[in-house]
Amino acid sequence: MDTIVLVAGHMLHSVQIEFARYMAGAAGVAVLYYLVRNAIAHRRIQNRAATNADRRREFVQSVRAIAVFSVVNLITFAMIGKGLIPLNRGEPHLGVLLAQIVAMTVMHDTWFYWMHRSLHRPALFRATHATHHLSRTPTSWAAYSFAWGEAVAESIYIPAMFVIVSLVAPIEPWAAFIVMGHQIARNAFGHAGFELAWSGFTRSPLTRWMTTTTHHDLHHTEGKYNYGLYFTWWDRLMGTEHPRYHERFEAVATRRRDALPEQATA
Ligand SMILES: [Zn+2]
Ligand SMILES: [Zn+2]
Repeated sequence: MDTIVLVAGHMLHSVQIEFARYMAGAAGVAVLYYLVRNAIAHRRIQNRAATNADRRREFVQSVRAIAVFSVVNLITFAMIGKGLIPLNRGEPHLGVLLAQIVAMTVMHDTWFYWMHRSLHRPALFRATHATHHLSRTPTSWAAYSFAWGEAVAESIYIPAMFVIVSLVAPIEPWAAFIVMGHQIARNAFGHAGFELAWSGFTRSPLTRWMTTTTHHDLHHTEGKYNYGLYFTWWDRLMGTEHPRYHERFEAVATRRRDALPEQATA
């Protein structure tokens, strides 16, 4: 009985953490973009506007995915409890903290690219990733809009990644918190449908290694390109970058503020 109460308590705590993170990203970006809607109207990537039904579906699916993430969190907590994932419970070490943030972000991007490409294989797509692609015009609410199977694939790397990283040094809890905060921010902005990066962003050596909202938006409209999450490295290396990515990006990034709606093509 005590075990059931303990597991239920951990589960509830997990749901609260995951839901709070989702709302901070999805609702945070939605409210922010609503407040500045006039200033960014000309930066809308697609002509089609998402409907409230789209947002509702994305929200409901995200809540289901949060239930799966919370179960995976229970596995992670159990592994921490058993000492399989050592944590630094003392003062953070700044060097280790920064190294873990970089390592975990690169590892997540690599996992995401290959997992995402695999889910696009016809045998897996319908059963898993088709749910996410119901969003042809995604919004920030689509951040966690995954079917059960994809929600498992999207989160199971976390305990595995912690085990690998902790072989070098105990996990810094702040590193995990910052990596997950960065994840939801990039995820919510990447689905939000407005390109706010500046002209030249996708070509400059200083910035071209980062994905943009146009990068992932093109994935939602055309499917077979731009599988990457944070970085453009894997798509460039594997030849899966959209052939007109730069052109489509520049079309939005250079659009004049007074452009007529019909000029605002996707
Ligand atoms: Zn997406
Ligand atoms: Zn996809």
